[in-house]
Amino acid sequence: MVSYTVLSSGSKGNSAVLTAGRTRILIDAGLSCRELFRRMKLVDEDPSTLDAILITHEHSDHVNGLAVTARKLGIPVFFTEATHRAWVRQITPKRRITYAQWIEEQRLLKQRAEADTEAASAFNESALDGDPKTDEAYDAEEEAAEELTAASGPSPTPGPAKSPSRAEDPAWLPAVEYFTAGSPFNFGDATIRPFTIPHDAADPVGFVFESEGMRLAVATDLGYMPPNVKAELRSLDLLHIESNHDLDMLRDGPYPWAVKQRVLSRVGHLSNDSTAQFLAAEYDGNAAYVILAHLSECNNLPELARIAAERALECHASLITNRLLIAHQHEPLKPILF
Ligand SMILES: [Zn+2]
Ligand SMILES: [Zn+2]
Repeated sequence: MVSYTVLSSGSKGNSAVLTAGRTRILIDAGLSCRELFRRMKLVDEDPSTLDAILITHEHSDHVNGLAVTARKLGIPVFFTEATHRAWVRQITPKRRITYAQWIEEQRLLKQRAEADTEAASAFNESALDGDPKTDEAYDAEEEAAEELTAASGPSPTPGPAKSPSRAEDPAWLPAVEYFTAGSPFNFGDATIRPFTIPHDAADPVGFVFESEGMRLAVATDLGYMPPNVKAELRSLDLLHIESNHDLDMLRDGPYPWAVKQRVLSRVGHLSNDSTAQFLAAEYDGNAAYVILAHLSECNNLPELARIAAERALECHASLITNRLLIAHQHEPLKPILF
């Protein structure tokens, strides 16, 4: 059996469940663990039967509940290595100080060093000929070591926790597995084909899933449709595709100019028009289900996204074979069964 359930879609959280034969995968964990489980129960999906979590990219609307969910279920998380590293950096608390605070710290350190030196020389004059390292030097070394630890993150080697202290690391996961965009891999009863998407994250991907002769694709969070994505989105049975914003609503909407620019850029999000253009001109009309996803609550209306996509699909005269659904932010879609 193959089934697909969108639990949530939009800038406040993205997550879906794929069942491929005996294998069940959570795609992104953008809601809190509690909310993910609540939504799964609403549509009769059992969280305890999930086998793995697959991550598209490290933006918070895709990873908000990741650590808690993976730990609670004790299941592996699949990332690209760059996405994992970016996520670890993001989730590891950093010590941030202002330049003024840094100057003040340096002044205090120097004072302390001078006081130590005076005390030492009072005790033993030969102390001045000793170790040339100052407190500042030690401090710089410690900071560099801290930064290195934060950048490298926990060991990427999959496996269970070695000691209870690892569970206190916010980036600790029961097991981590790496995949590479462009290199398909098998997991249980599914073949997973990750492909690169143009988006402002470390190493963002979309996925095509193959199982029992079915092909399902997820492609959200992309600024435009490059040839490699178009090539992957062929001969599908289900297409979960972004239709993020209406261009006029975005232009006239409340976002600051810089954010508007980011959304519109080639590493931002697909507009209703861009998605419609793809559906009209390049999509093969094959999928039984087309799910419009990652709709902006500020800059889009479900009806605008639907009308644009319906018009586009009319070009194929395939509206009957393509059931058009809209994924929601606040409630799950009913599971789609094949
Ligand atoms: Zn994103
Ligand atoms: Zn997103």
